[in-house]
Amino acid sequence: MTESILRVAVPSPLHRLFDYLPPRAEAVALAPGMRVQIPFGRGRAVGMLVDIARTTDFDPARLKRVQAVLDAAPVLPDDILAMARWAADYYHHPLGEVLAGCLPVVLRRGQALQPQGETVWRLTDAGHAASPAERARAPQQERALTFLAEHSDGASRAQLDAAGLGAHILRALTARDWIESTVRAPAPRAAIPTATSAHPLNPAQAEAVAAIQSARDRYQAFLLDGVTGSGKTEVYLQAIAECIAQGKQALVVVPEIGLTPQLVERFQQRLGHAPTLLHSGLSEGERLNAWLAARAGEAAVVIGTRSAAWVPLARPGLFIVDEEHDPSLKQQEGFRYSARDLLVWRAHRDGVPIVLGSATPALESLHNAQQGRYQHLSLPERAGVACAPRLYLLDIRNQTLDEGLAPALLAQMRAHLGRDGQVLLFLNRRGFAPTLLCHACGWVAECRRCDAHLTLHQQHKHLRCHHCGSQQPIPVQCPQCGCADLRPLGAGTERVERALERQFPDVPFVRIDRDNTRRKGRLEDLLAQAASGDARILLGTQMLAKGHHFPGVTLVGILEADQGLFSADFRAGERLAQQVIQVAGRAGRAERPGEVLVQTHHPEHPLLQQLVAAGYPAFAAAALAERQAAGLPPFSNLALLRAEATDARAPEHFLSAARDATDTRLTNGLEFWGPVPSPMERRAGRFRAQLLLVARDRKRLHRLLADWVPRLGELKAARKVRWSLDVDPIDLF
Ligand code: ADP
Ligand code: ZN
Ligand code: ZN
Repeated sequence: MTESILRVAVPSPLHRLFDYLPPRAEAVALAPGMRVQIPFGRGRAVGMLVDIARTTDFDPARLKRVQAVLDAAPVLPDDILAMARWAADYYHHPLGEVLAGCLPVVLRRGQALQPQGETVWRLTDAGHAASPAERARAPQQERALTFLAEHSDGASRAQLDAAGLGAHILRALTARDWIESTVRAPAPRAAIPTATSAHPLNPAQAEAVAAIQSARDRYQAFLLDGVTGSGKTEVYLQAIAECIAQGKQALVVVPEIGLTPQLVERFQQRLGHAPTLLHSGLSEGERLNAWLAARAGEAAVVIGTRSAAWVPLARPGLFIVDEEHDPSLKQQEGFRYSARDLLVWRAHRDGVPIVLGSATPALESLHNAQQGRYQHLSLPERAGVACAPRLYLLDIRNQTLDEGLAPALLAQMRAHLGRDGQVLLFLNRRGFAPTLLCHACGWVAECRRCDAHLTLHQQHKHLRCHHCGSQQPIPVQCPQCGCADLRPLGAGTERVERALERQFPDVPFVRIDRDNTRRKGRLEDLLAQAASGDARILLGTQMLAKGHHFPGVTLVGILEADQGLFSADFRAGERLAQQVIQVAGRAGRAERPGEVLVQTHHPEHPLLQQLVAAGYPAFAAAALAERQAAGLPPFSNLALLRAEATDARAPEHFLSAARDATDTRLTNGLEFWGPVPSPMERRAGRFRAQLLLVARDRKRLHRLLADWVPRLGELKAARKVRWSLDVDPIDLF
């Protein structure tokens, strides 16, 4: 009898599987989904068994043997394996990388499937005994000792970080033998108490919940299209409660910054126990434990960001994607997948309902609903007593702005603050000013490595590039003409903050952006001040704008709406409309009505006019008609081949060669746009170019890609560039 051939997926850029012979002592019954340790190249690797075959295209005598089988049973269940295969085909990405990416890092390295304890720090006897005189010499260490004395059963790294006690302090104290780390066993899961009672649903909500419930045990996709504050989360919660009552698990995927403590607390209160979380802030051990709890069926509700779409569930019952239009649901580097689209595929495979929720659905999703692929559920009104906010365009042409704030906006702010309302100001631009300008000669500060301006940061006193991260000191005189009259051009959040300090010296405010929330726990802290009403003015970037429920906010000011009006990207209008409506949705979420002022230099622009007069549905209908006329998605399918190199000509050279390498029998019905330089041609010192493929017919496009992509790496011109393929790209940069 001949030996079986093991087909193994290995994390590698090669678009193929690798054949191996079984280990000599074949103790366990082999099955797809088990991890194996294999000799690979000159070293060894952890791969995943995906197939057991009888034949091989290679000389069986030269095949190597698997060194060890790492699992007694498959790590990944059938549905995740099938989804990985489908995704590798659809996104034309190597299966080995897809599979490696869907495992927690600890498992990728080959470790056993056991929950990991958490590392905690505590005082040693010597630490307890340290004399006050010894301790007083280093105030930071003194603070850490006091903190640990208050946490006698140990403090985790997360707790220490939140208290501002970093690794260097722990190292210093460990060196003095005053503290030690131990591993604490994972906490046992609490039993599930009963949930607190829900709001009585309004008729639209009740209809939505009933529709979702009637689809239990089978596949059905729903587009829950509900205006901001219409009670979508309430609909999720009721559908989830029903799912849990049936003994099944619910998986909720939210955008990166949507996974707020507020949301988690709401789930916890309503469902009576903490949901299992999966997000980028977890340690490797925490991530593994959450993943294992989901896989074992112990986690009734899992809430996570993009990569949670891959988490195995023992008894899947319901999938939810919140803010389904959000660009962060698409991975933008490496393996570029859409978590939303994957989950729709998975729901179909698993035979469970999926709910895609948004106040501003993606045009793709609206189109799918119109085509009958998704069932359209709509919540046209705000829940409870709240009513829709009113939007106004504020013409700022010829106005004197105070650090970006128009007089009419300032007057409205005073009026709302005087009536005890909170004010939210949105500006999606951090730093002090988008750039620095020489008033004498017109020189502007530009990044040496990118085609981009440097942002002026007053707080940290430097110029920084938001694309490559490089920094430089603020020049005292113009490098071009020597003049000392250098002026900030435009306004970022830091600059608006300055106006607030001057205009409203007695009004407490918070500024929420990435620069201001780097320290752990800081964002939670600021959001809590916003939600409690302690802060009367809330200023921030999109971190502040999405998903939050601040019941006291009655006025929203959008300081800059013009950026998206004239962009080259065909999705810019859609993004702008979504952003305006989402930010506006923070106003008037409780009893008191909300107002929204949108500052613009283009008050007559049709997009803004339409949005203000008729809202998102009217905008979306018009935008869909335009896309259809132009043959753009969702009426066509795109794939974008990107290339970059330090040599200016190499990217276009590679893309031309790639274009020439297409099989002409397959290019029928396909259009190539490019190669052209990317909109930002130089980034971090590398030149970038792109080639866009547009096809009416999705199957045709994928037939071409399947033949073409695996051959691209063999092109001679490929050696000089980094390249990547993006199927269904969401931006063309
Ligand atoms: P969305 O997710 O659509 O933004 P939420 O579910 O957060 O909306 O609901 C907005 C507010 O309305 C919340 O404070 C919520 O508690 C409240 N709410 C939701 N449904 C109802 C209802 N049926 N009756 C009264 N209040 C409700
Ligand atoms: Zn100058
Ligand atoms: Zn740069």
